[in-house]
Amino acid sequence: MIVIIGSINMDLVMRVPRIPHPGETLSGGPFQTIPGGKGANQAVACARLVKQTERSAPQKVAMVACLGDDAFGVQLRAALRSDGIDDTHVSTVANISSGVAAIQVDANGQNSIALAAGANDALTPAHIDAARNLIAQAKIVVLQLETPLATISHAIKMAHDLGKIVVLNPAPAQALPTALLAQIDYLIPNEIEAGMLAELPLTASMSDADIDAAMAKLQAHGCRNVLVTLGAKGVQAGLANGAQHFPAQVVKAIDTTAAGDTFIGGFVAALADGLSEAEAIQFGQRAAALSVTRIGAQTSIPYRHEL
Ligand code: ADP
Repeated sequence: MIVIIGSINMDLVMRVPRIPHPGETLSGGPFQTIPGGKGANQAVACARLVKQTERSAPQKVAMVACLGDDAFGVQLRAALRSDGIDDTHVSTVANISSGVAAIQVDANGQNSIALAAGANDALTPAHIDAARNLIAQAKIVVLQLETPLATISHAIKMAHDLGKIVVLNPAPAQALPTALLAQIDYLIPNEIEAGMLAELPLTASMSDADIDAAMAKLQAHGCRNVLVTLGAKGVQAGLANGAQHFPAQVVKAIDTTAAGDTFIGGFVAALADGLSEAEAIQFGQRAAALSVTRIGAQTSIPYRHEL
């Protein structure tokens, strides 16, 4: 079983000719509501990409998260269930909205995003304690940083102490205590997050040497493996047995929303299926490459049979 602990959002996506200036009202184009949030995206990617050999005993993917008591909460829970995700530990919290991302996408595909965490901020260590039996059944536990850090730290410690494989996607980027990094089996940042976590000076783009320096620093803090995603350039992996580059698939990208989430879901699903780290990285990248040829978050995540 794979357990994902993290955020669930409704993405409100509006196409606009250009991003409006402060104070300006601009008529936009088509509008869509698309289920998203890093946690839910990664759960959906795991559920769609994990091998299902026996119908009688399907590989379970479960989420630990919070939704608001609003219409989006109802839709977001239904979206998880439609992908076969166990939502027993997805709580509905009274008097709060579900997480929402207001996304504007301009004619060049550039986006601007405002996030309201809503119920994601209500995920507490008590929710993690209540899910202890579920976490104890997992092979892999996956987390991100869109829910409170105190809760994430509590969950990482529990999963680590239970001997689980702990995967952390440190997004959105924030500084993390060394003690927390030392409990991570696979840290999966993108370039910017890797630079921030390793406290490198912020530059527009990092050189290969910068990325290697960031990886070495994070591994010195105790992360067993660090996989830095580099968009169209692929993945630079600092594995316990050495560094290795894995090129991305060549595709025509239309929308890179959830590329990282799809990579993580594919990587974790493949690890759960018993593939090697190198095979799992390649599998995750095949899934992510397909996702960037499609629009939206969960609407772009492929199914196993499509790969
Ligand atoms: P994030 O979305 O978290 O910033 P990245 O942009 O690094 O993550 O993308 C994650 C992975 O998705 C990459 O490592 C790569 O495998 C795949 N990917 C992203 N953009 C492209 C692209 N333009 N072409 C092919 N693969 C891509």
